Amino acid sequence: MVDLKRQYLRLKDEIDAGIHAVLDNTAYINGPQVKAFQEHLEKYLGVKAVIPCANGTDALQIAMMALDLKPGDEVIVPAFTYVATAEVIALLGLTPVMVDVDYDTFNVTVGQIAAAITPRTKAIVPVNLFGQSCDLEPIMALAREQGIWVIEDNAQAIGADFTFNNGTSVKTGAIGHIGCTSFYPSKNLGAYGDGGAIYTNDENLAAKMRMIANHGQVRRYYHDVVGVNSRLDGIQAAILNVKLARLDEFAAARQKAATFYDAQLAGIPDLLLPKTHPKSTHVYHQYTLRVKNGKRGALETHLQQAGIPSMIYYPVPLYNQEAFKASTTPKALPVTEQLCEEVLSLPMHTELDDEQLSYIVKTIQNFFA
Ligand SMILES: *Cc1c(COP(=O)(O)O)cnc(C)c1O
Repeated sequence: MVDLKRQYLRLKDEIDAGIHAVLDNTAYINGPQVKAFQEHLEKYLGVKAVIPCANGTDALQIAMMALDLKPGDEVIVPAFTYVATAEVIALLGLTPVMVDVDYDTFNVTVGQIAAAITPRTKAIVPVNLFGQSCDLEPIMALAREQGIWVIEDNAQAIGADFTFNNGTSVKTGAIGHIGCTSFYPSKNLGAYGDGGAIYTNDENLAAKMRMIANHGQVRRYYHDVVGVNSRLDGIQAAILNVKLARLDEFAAARQKAATFYDAQLAGIPDLLLPKTHPKSTHVYHQYTLRVKNGKRGALETHLQQAGIPSMIYYPVPLYNQEAFKASTTPKALPVTEQLCEEVLSLPMHTELDDEQLSYIVKTIQNFFA
């Protein structure tokens, strides 16, 4: 699905130099590389504060901990997402309320969120799934009107832009009160280990989240709140510094592959191609097809026999996961159920060459011929 080796070899000189600089100055934790990465990312995203942390799941948890929510408070999440989004909510004793998503963009809409709001709703976690933004302007307006927090799960869409009605473009993750991202190796901005970041334009929240991520302390050995230990290490920061400078170039390579898939796979009656919301750019964390008429399994096997990887993100609605069965009232959300039956993601990364892309689309065309 990804080719991290080829990307490394292309960037090897710079990445090796970055890693060796950390080994030389022994600033393994909270050193100059971490500080530099934080500043570069603040500038790139156009946010006041970035708080680097250990992974994307921690980012979501720390964000949630900063909002002073009480057990039983409800947090609205899409049912069609990675488990981490809902996991941290349940872990903190809050109630995840799962809502359906839009069939064409795979993302939650304001209508679906509005219908799920109750007096106990305290936060919404829109997930910018597969690399494009949710339609965040009406979601932010609804949240403002209801006095509800918005935490963007931007683990899959770092670098995407959302355009407001007045024409201003803002990076995803910088639109909600808090944005969370992951630097898991296969993410669009991937480290060579775990990493994550939280971002916000609210200085009070930033100070609080910085404190929570650091054992609840501002001053060493004086702990104001019960926090966690969540840090990005220097070696990962050095790698991320090299890659952040190329994030837009990476997105362009992914978009080029997506454009090729779009052109070559158009017109196959049993395939629906991914659609981009008109307010968002798409950085294609995944290129995800919907395969109609029960042909997904056979297509998957056909690709596998040709040596082409493909993946089902995600096979099970969150409310049907064993872990969430007891904590939520399972109800069938029709679009989520349908997507879990139809989605298939194709190889998508920065190193796909013309030969590989042609081979992949020919194999798919042959299957439907
Ligand atoms: C990857 C991912 C996360 C979690 O990130 P980790 O760094 O693996 O903890 C959370 N939400 C979504 C949507 C993700 O894709």
